[in-house]
Amino acid sequence: MARIAAAAQRGGRLPHSVQLVAVAKTHPPDAVRAAVEAGAKIIGENYIQEARAKFEALIHIPAQWHFIGHLQSNKAKYAVRLFHLIHTVDSLALGAELDRHAGKAGKVQEVLIQVNVSGEATKSGVSAGQATTLARELAELPHIKVKGLMTMPPYFDDPERARPFFAALRRLREDIRAQAIPGVDMMELSMGMTGDFEAAIEEGATLVRVGTAIFGGRA
Ligand SMILES: *Cc1c(COP(=O)(O)O)cnc(C)c1O
Repeated sequence: MARIAAAAQRGGRLPHSVQLVAVAKTHPPDAVRAAVEAGAKIIGENYIQEARAKFEALIHIPAQWHFIGHLQSNKAKYAVRLFHLIHTVDSLALGAELDRHAGKAGKVQEVLIQVNVSGEATKSGVSAGQATTLARELAELPHIKVKGLMTMPPYFDDPERARPFFAALRRLREDIRAQAIPGVDMMELSMGMTGDFEAAIEEGATLVRVGTAIFGGRA
């Protein structure tokens, strides 16, 4: 938390403008409970199956759950049930499926648009050019609320090399904001992991997704 605050200050930002998502994939419920007791307020999960089991084990835990993995449309129902914010919407088809289940559940589902800023073929996400179109399309869905953008740059040993991708996501947010699409609020930038969260915060991250630095390595 001290490193988040220091990075925020270097970026000319207030520490509480950055929220930590404690990424718990592969770690057991006891580890999640310990993290929450130590102050984690948001738990990030990548897999629906795993999240369902952990959610049951930790039903009354005072934390929000965020989905940060690749979401298949046939799991949309569970995602809507479990998660406050879904970081990884990358198609209208998925958005429409989430909208349908959110409608049934009487919920407005908050989402981020996942952007493949680097254009790597192996990464999920829409291109920067498609992000505005998707934001406009999702804005038409009554039970979906677009809160911002998420990205995962290529992995580098040197976090400085990830920085241009973080800056690009921030500029994209400004471009979309400038279009003032009704119903789309571009508050959130989900970017930065254990190896590069400080650079991400300096470039404007509002949500950093940190696993290893909190829970240790994954088997
Ligand atoms: C696993 C994961 C993280 C956390 O990665 P660490 O390097 O362990 O901090 C963040 N974001 C996504 C999308 C992930 O899948």
